Amino acid sequence: MTKLRLAIVGAGPAGIYAADILLKAERNFEVSIDLFDHLPAPYGLVRYGVAPDHPRIKGIINALRGVLDSGDIRIFGNVRFGVDVTLADLKKHYNAVIFATGATQDADLNIPGMHLNGSYGAAEFVSWFDGHPDVPRTWPLEGTEIAVIGNGNVALDVSRMLVKHAEDLLSTEIPENVHAGLQASPVTDVHIFGRRGPTSVKFTPLELREIGQLRDVDMIVYDEDFDYDDAARDAVASNKQVFVIDKTLQQWRQRETGSASRRLHLHFFSKPVEVVDDGSGRVGGFRWERTRSDGAGGVVGTGEIREIPVQAVYRAVGYFGSELKDVPFDKKRGVIPNREGQVLRRDPEAGTGGLFNQQMYGVYVTGWIKRGPVGLIGHTKSDAMETIRHLINDLGNWWYPESPSEESIVALLDERGVQYTGLDGWRNLDLHEIALGEAAGRTRVKVVPRDEMVEISRGEG
Ligand SMILES: Cc1cc2nc3c(=O)[nH]c(=O)nc-3n(C[C@H](O)[C@H](O)[C@H](O)COP(=O)(O)OP(=O)(O)OC[C@H]3O[C@@H](n4cnc5c(N)ncnc54)[C@H](O)[C@@H]3O)c2cc1C
Repeated sequence: MTKLRLAIVGAGPAGIYAADILLKAERNFEVSIDLFDHLPAPYGLVRYGVAPDHPRIKGIINALRGVLDSGDIRIFGNVRFGVDVTLADLKKHYNAVIFATGATQDADLNIPGMHLNGSYGAAEFVSWFDGHPDVPRTWPLEGTEIAVIGNGNVALDVSRMLVKHAEDLLSTEIPENVHAGLQASPVTDVHIFGRRGPTSVKFTPLELREIGQLRDVDMIVYDEDFDYDDAARDAVASNKQVFVIDKTLQQWRQRETGSASRRLHLHFFSKPVEVVDDGSGRVGGFRWERTRSDGAGGVVGTGEIREIPVQAVYRAVGYFGSELKDVPFDKKRGVIPNREGQVLRRDPEAGTGGLFNQQMYGVYVTGWIKRGPVGLIGHTKSDAMETIRHLINDLGNWWYPESPSEESIVALLDERGVQYTGLDGWRNLDLHEIALGEAAGRTRVKVVPRDEMVEISRGEG
């Protein structure tokens, strides 16, 4: 019987679901799967993106752990594709590879002043508060007034983490340094800006409602944003999600404010124009243009410019994928070009301007790096199903590896001195974090420094 030796690069939900679906799929060949991740811990953005005060979503890790514990998958953590292993290496040892490397960079926002000190991407801040090993351990939380640009759930996560009192986060898994940083924050006002009106936001109703329940935080919405036109009224009447969002916002309009020590302001119809320099290269203000509905679902500028003083700006305008060595990359969309998960390369005859229209045999993609950084964890499952269907049907086009044995990749990593961590290593780290949590009366306390994670995983600590 044929055996598929499969490498999956990226142990986030997309990579783990792909492995699970393949193992359970109807097929007439055996499989042996190795999952690589450059982090010493699996689960991607579920561990390093989902906010710590969302334990229900973090709980998806339990289901993902069940897949890893099924015994049919090996994991190699702390192994970076493009550095520790290359595409040529994978071709030598596997029949095929699936890239599931996600999207972890901040998308750009091209307005003047974005480079100033005190201007940050949401992804950097999220990585900090979720204890990602590759970001600095301290975060400059010095501003009393902060602007957050964006009207999606990441903007809500960032704003909530900025405005929530640190002691209300103590029950979560946040690392000690994050708790200490948030506790020292002098913040009083967080302002969220979105170009469109309240009926066109990308927030989900649950996350929006949640932010209105924070202790000692007043929700400030502005009456001028609620003068709905026909299109907005239609949206409220016809779309349940918009209806609930509008209801939540309307309730906040009626609330008494003035007693809380912190405020969260929602500014709709506000198009970012400039991050203002305070004269010393630091963020001193935020300038935006008031927009209005164009009657066709979009907005147009009114020419009215407004400004408020702020000492920090966070842009939460989307994530963007990273290019991988020797793998085709669509620089505009930040994804690996593909047809339903089959990776496409440019026609070699057509040069660098050619279309991505030739299947790159043996190479597949799934998750956020396949379709861009939108959608929930659950969506990566349907993504993976599509990719696995093609992988199975393409049996005749898989690679013919020189050294397909399971030991040969281990020998290669050892020869290169890569300090990889396996499934047992993850179990060691997991138990260690849970024990740290127990000692502090919490469910878990995350270990942050990479070398410490690796030492604990490898039993060297
Ligand atoms: C701030 C934030 C909050 C979110 N909150 C929610 C939520 O509450 N609910 C929800 O359903 N969804 C949420 N999401 C969306 C969810 O996280 C994504 O849908 C999901 O994580 C995408 O899965 P993925 O496996 O494609 O990518 P990822 O989760 O990013 O996993 C990619 C993996 O690839 C690895 N990798 C990358 N490059 C390399 C390389 N060169 N070599 C080896 N490994 C590599 C990474 O380390 C990572 O482990 C949130 C997203 C963000 C950004």
